[in-house]
Amino acid sequence: MGQELQVICDCGYSAKALCGSSRRQYGHVFNYPHRCKSCDQVVTIDVLSSSHLCPSCGSHDVVAYGKSLPCKPRGTLFTKLFDSFSRKAVGDYNEAYSALLRNIVGQGFCSATNTMYGMPDQNQLCPSCKMVTLRFGIATLYD
Ligand SMILES: [Zn+2]
Ligand SMILES: [Zn+2]
Repeated sequence: MGQELQVICDCGYSAKALCGSSRRQYGHVFNYPHRCKSCDQVVTIDVLSSSHLCPSCGSHDVVAYGKSLPCKPRGTLFTKLFDSFSRKAVGDYNEAYSALLRNIVGQGFCSATNTMYGMPDQNQLCPSCKMVTLRFGIATLYD
Protein backbone atom coordinates (compact mmCIF):
# COMPACT_ATOMS: atom_id res chain seq x y z
CA MET A 1 0.00 0.00 0.00
CA GLY A 2 1.38 3.38 -0.96
CA GLN A 3 0.41 6.90 -0.05
CA GLU A 4 0.12 10.01 -2.12
CA LEU A 5 1.13 12.96 0.02
CA GLN A 6 -0.11 16.49 -0.43
CA VAL A 7 2.70 18.96 0.19
CA ILE A 8 1.71 22.52 1.14
CA CYS A 9 3.65 25.58 2.29
CA ASP A 10 2.54 28.95 3.69
CA CYS A 11 4.24 30.66 0.73
CA GLY A 12 1.77 29.05 -1.67
CA TYR A 13 4.01 26.24 -2.86
CA SER A 14 2.23 22.94 -3.26
CA ALA A 15 3.18 19.59 -4.72
CA LYS A 16 2.30 15.93 -4.57
CA ALA A 17 4.71 13.15 -3.75
CA LEU A 18 4.42 9.39 -3.53
CA CYS A 19 5.48 7.23 -0.65
CA GLY A 20 5.80 3.46 -0.55
CA SER A 21 4.81 1.15 -3.35
CA SER A 22 1.77 -0.44 -4.88
CA ARG A 23 1.17 -4.16 -4.46
CA ARG A 24 2.50 -4.84 -7.96
CA GLN A 25 5.67 -2.80 -7.31
CA TYR A 26 6.27 -4.33 -3.89
CA GLY A 27 9.92 -5.21 -3.32
CA HIS A 28 11.01 -3.51 -6.56
CA VAL A 29 9.98 0.08 -6.05
CA PHE A 30 9.90 2.15 -2.91
CA ASN A 31 8.91 5.74 -3.51
CA TYR A 32 9.83 8.48 -1.10
CA PRO A 33 9.55 12.29 -1.19
CA HIS A 34 12.83 14.12 -1.76
CA ARG A 35 13.82 17.72 -2.23
CA CYS A 36 15.72 18.47 -5.43
CA LYS A 37 18.34 21.11 -4.74
CA SER A 38 18.81 21.71 -8.43
CA CYS A 39 15.27 22.56 -9.62
CA ASP A 40 13.85 23.38 -6.15
CA GLN A 41 10.93 20.98 -6.21
CA VAL A 42 9.53 18.27 -4.00
CA VAL A 43 9.92 15.14 -6.13
CA THR A 44 9.30 11.42 -5.80
CA ILE A 45 12.40 9.24 -5.86
CA ASP A 46 12.45 5.45 -5.98
CA VAL A 47 14.99 4.69 -3.25
CA LEU A 48 15.54 1.19 -4.66
CA SER A 49 16.62 2.50 -8.05
CA SER A 50 20.36 2.42 -8.68
CA SER A 51 20.47 6.08 -9.63
CA HIS A 52 18.53 8.54 -7.51
CA LEU A 53 17.68 11.02 -10.23
CA CYS A 54 15.25 13.91 -10.03
CA PRO A 55 12.35 13.01 -12.36
CA SER A 56 11.89 16.68 -13.14
CA CYS A 57 15.43 17.87 -14.06
CA GLY A 58 17.59 14.71 -13.96
CA SER A 59 19.88 16.01 -11.21
CA HIS A 60 21.51 13.75 -8.62
CA ASP A 61 21.28 16.51 -6.05
CA VAL A 62 18.27 15.19 -4.11
CA VAL A 63 17.82 14.80 -0.36
CA ALA A 64 15.19 12.68 1.36
CA TYR A 65 12.62 14.34 3.57
CA GLY A 66 12.44 13.05 7.10
CA LYS A 67 14.49 10.08 8.03
CA SER A 68 14.50 6.38 8.40
CA LEU A 69 13.00 5.36 11.69
CA PRO A 70 14.33 2.69 13.99
CA CYS A 71 12.59 -0.60 13.32
CA LYS A 72 10.76 -2.18 16.15
CA PRO A 73 12.75 -5.29 17.00
CA ARG A 74 10.53 -8.30 16.55
CA GLY A 75 11.29 -11.97 16.89
CA THR A 76 14.99 -11.40 17.22
CA LEU A 77 17.25 -12.88 19.83
CA PHE A 78 17.64 -9.39 21.22
CA THR A 79 13.88 -9.06 21.73
CA LYS A 80 13.65 -12.41 23.45
CA LEU A 81 16.48 -11.57 25.83
CA PHE A 82 15.09 -8.10 26.37
CA ASP A 83 11.61 -9.49 26.96
CA SER A 84 12.63 -12.04 29.54
CA PHE A 85 14.87 -9.48 31.18
CA SER A 86 12.14 -6.95 31.77
CA ARG A 87 8.50 -6.82 30.66
CA LYS A 88 8.30 -3.24 31.80
CA ALA A 89 11.22 -2.17 29.62
CA VAL A 90 9.40 -3.59 26.58
CA GLY A 91 6.26 -1.66 27.53
CA ASP A 92 8.26 1.56 27.84
CA TYR A 93 9.88 0.91 24.50
CA ASN A 94 6.50 0.36 22.80
CA GLU A 95 5.16 3.56 24.31
CA ALA A 96 8.19 5.57 23.18
CA TYR A 97 7.89 3.99 19.75
CA SER A 98 4.23 4.95 19.29
CA ALA A 99 4.96 8.47 20.58
CA LEU A 100 7.67 8.74 17.97
CA LEU A 101 5.25 7.76 15.21
CA ARG A 102 2.37 9.97 16.31
CA ASN A 103 3.17 12.93 14.06
CA ILE A 104 4.81 10.94 11.34
CA VAL A 105 3.39 10.76 7.82
CA GLY A 106 4.54 8.83 4.82
CA GLN A 107 5.30 5.96 7.09
CA GLY A 108 6.25 2.85 5.24
CA PHE A 109 8.36 -0.20 5.72
CA CYS A 110 10.70 -1.06 2.89
CA SER A 111 11.36 -4.79 3.08
CA ALA A 112 14.14 -4.61 0.49
CA THR A 113 16.27 -2.33 2.65
CA ASN A 114 14.71 -3.43 5.96
CA THR A 115 14.12 0.20 6.81
CA MET A 116 11.12 2.03 8.21
CA TYR A 117 10.64 5.38 6.52
CA GLY A 118 8.68 8.34 7.75
CA MET A 119 8.80 12.07 8.31
CA PRO A 120 7.35 14.60 10.72
CA ASP A 121 4.20 16.07 9.14
CA GLN A 122 5.30 19.69 9.51
CA ASN A 123 8.26 22.10 9.84
CA GLN A 124 9.97 20.74 6.75
CA LEU A 125 12.20 22.80 4.48
CA CYS A 126 10.28 24.34 1.59
CA PRO A 127 12.18 24.13 -1.72
CA SER A 128 10.53 27.36 -2.87
CA CYS A 129 10.82 29.86 0.02
CA LYS A 130 13.53 27.95 1.96
CA MET A 131 11.60 28.32 5.21
CA VAL A 132 10.76 25.37 7.45
CA THR A 133 7.04 25.84 6.93
CA LEU A 134 6.34 22.95 4.59
CA ARG A 135 3.64 20.49 5.65
CA PHE A 136 2.86 16.96 4.49
CA GLY A 137 -0.53 15.33 4.62
CA ILE A 138 -1.93 12.09 3.28
CA ALA A 139 -4.03 12.84 0.21
CA THR A 140 -4.89 9.38 -1.03
CA LEU A 141 -3.88 5.77 -0.62
CA TYR A 142 -3.03 3.62 -3.61
CA ASP A 143 -2.70 -0.09 -4.01
ZN1 LIG B 1 15.30 18.48 -10.04
ZN1 LIG C 1 7.45 27.87 1.01
